[in-house]
Parts: sequence; C-alpha cells; structure tokens
Amino acid sequence: MLIYGRDIREQMKADIRHFSADKTLTMAIVIIGDDQPSHTYVKGIVKFAEETGVKVRVIHLSAREEENTVLRTITELNENPEINGIMLQKPVPQHLDANKITNAIAYNKDVEGIHNFNLGKLISRQEGVKPSTPKAIIRLLKEHDIEIEGKKVTIVGRSTIVGNPLAVMMTTENATVTLCHTRTKDLKKEILNADILVAALGKKNFITAEMVREDTIIIDAGINFDENGKMFGDVDEAAKEKAAIASAVPGGVGVITVAELFDNLKEIYKNK
Ligand code: NAP
Repeated sequence: MLIYGRDIREQMKADIRHFSADKTLTMAIVIIGDDQPSHTYVKGIVKFAEETGVKVRVIHLSAREEENTVLRTITELNENPEINGIMLQKPVPQHLDANKITNAIAYNKDVEGIHNFNLGKLISRQEGVKPSTPKAIIRLLKEHDIEIEGKKVTIVGRSTIVGNPLAVMMTTENATVTLCHTRTKDLKKEILNADILVAALGKKNFITAEMVREDTIIIDAGINFDENGKMFGDVDEAAKEKAAIASAVPGGVGVITVAELFDNLKEIYKNK
C-alpha cells in the first residue's frame, strides 16, 4: 500500500495560514548559482509561501560569488529584524563551504534546523528547530498511525540533513536504529532486518524487492531524476509492491518537507 503526504501538507498549510493571518512572517532564501533542481525547489517554497501569506525574499547570488560576499549577505539577513528565518539552498558552488555558510546563519533564524547549535540541541534532546526532512519522515509515519517505538529502523544514508539527524530523532522516538552508508558491509542483511526502512541515499531505484520483507514499512526519501526529468525514489516499484506500506515518490516525504520549513519558521517566530 502506498502512502502519501499531500493531505498532511494541506493541513500544515492551513495551520500556517491561520498563524500568519495577523502577523508578518518573512523567510529569506539564499541561492547561489544556476542549479536547475535548486531553482525548481525554491519555486515550490515561494508558491507555498504565497498560499500561506508568508513573505519570502529570494537572494540570488552569482555562481562566482566570493565566500566573503556570501557571508556578508548572511550577516545582513541575521541583523535584519524583518527577517525571521534564513535558508541556504544547497548545493552551493564547489569553491564555497556550505557548512561554514550554514553556521554563519544566526541559530535562531535557522529554518532548516541544521546549524550546529540546533543539531547539538537535537542530540541532547532539548526543544528546538529540527531538520525539515527527518521531521517530515517522522510526521508521515505518525500521521499514518505507524508506531515507531520498539521498532527496528534501518536508515540508508548518513548525511547531515537527512540520515544522521533522523537516526537521532528515531532513537528519541524509542526505535532501535541501524544507520547504513557506503562502507556498510552487508546492506541487504541490514535492510532485511528492518521493520521500518528509510531510504535516503540518492540512487534511483537502488533498493529492490529481494532486499525487503513483506512486512517492511518503507519510507522513500530519495529524489532522483532521469534524463527526461521524471522523478524517482531510491526504492523500486517491485519492492514497494512487496512491502506492507511504502511512501510514494513523488507525493510522499518531499511534499511535507517544504511545509516543515514553514512549521519551523512558525516555531522561530513564537520563540523570538
Ligand atoms: P547525500 O548527502 O549525497 O548522502 C547520501 C548518503 O547515502 C551518504 O551517507 C552515502 O554514504 C549514502 N549512500 C550513497 N550510496 C550508497 C550506497 N550505494 N549504499 C549505501 N549508502 C549509500 O544525500 P542527501 O542530501 O542525504 O539526500 C539523499 C536523498 O534524499 C537524495 O535523493 C535527495 O534528493 C533526497 N532528499 C530528499 C528530501 C525530501 O524532502 N524528500 C530532502 C533532502 C534530500 P557515505 O556517507 O558513505 O558517502
């Protein structure tokens, strides 16, 4: 059975629209260069903002911009009282250090929840802004009444924005977590052991039917495009048909992730 995120996104949209009705919330997005998927993603954020009455300021910098200029832009946004939240669209051009720029964003304007300060809070289980994609994954499970506590969760992918923080958040939800990556010795064995599998490795249709059990719950966070621009997840169709439950791509985790940015913006506004 496929599960979707669209209804959850619509509910979140209504909540954010209601929250922003009598206040001005503004998010700044810094995008550097002309990476097409990034521009498409930012367009989606702008559309969500328009539909919820939130203001978005998109700052588009050239791919050749020097790091100092980017950092100065971030400082200006940090100091601007009209800006409630800031996001750095990734990837950034190779000569720039995405981690350094992300950590130049004021931690209390970090809508993505990936500033070192906020990641530290996550690990020490304090309230705070949480990374948007892991938040979307946990929300998708909970909204479909899928229990996490006590489950064996295997996550494939250990990035700072998805796999790693998700492992922490799943542990906080009392799951027993296995975090896999390119050096994992027997990936198939680890996936077969999972009650819940989260695929976040960024390889089109990488996980196939023989790697999953009939009772596995699959959350496919992958977003991959073929040469015709068609979107695919990290898990192939046959694996999703075999498993008990699987999230759709497109229409699953991805549609909630954007809403989570605005949910974070709402939290930041409340705490300012
Ligand atoms: P990333 O930074 O490229 O990280 C990929 C991770 O997967 C790495 O930890 C890598 O291991 C691991 N990996 C790659 N190939 C593997 C293999 N063959 N076997 C085992 N592990 C493997 O990617 P990301 O930014 O986390 O994104 C992952 C996927 O999620 C992408 O498709 C991306 O588009 C998607 N995504 C979706 C959303 C959403 O809202 N749905 C948001 C963000 C990202 P090593 O660490 O060993 O290299």
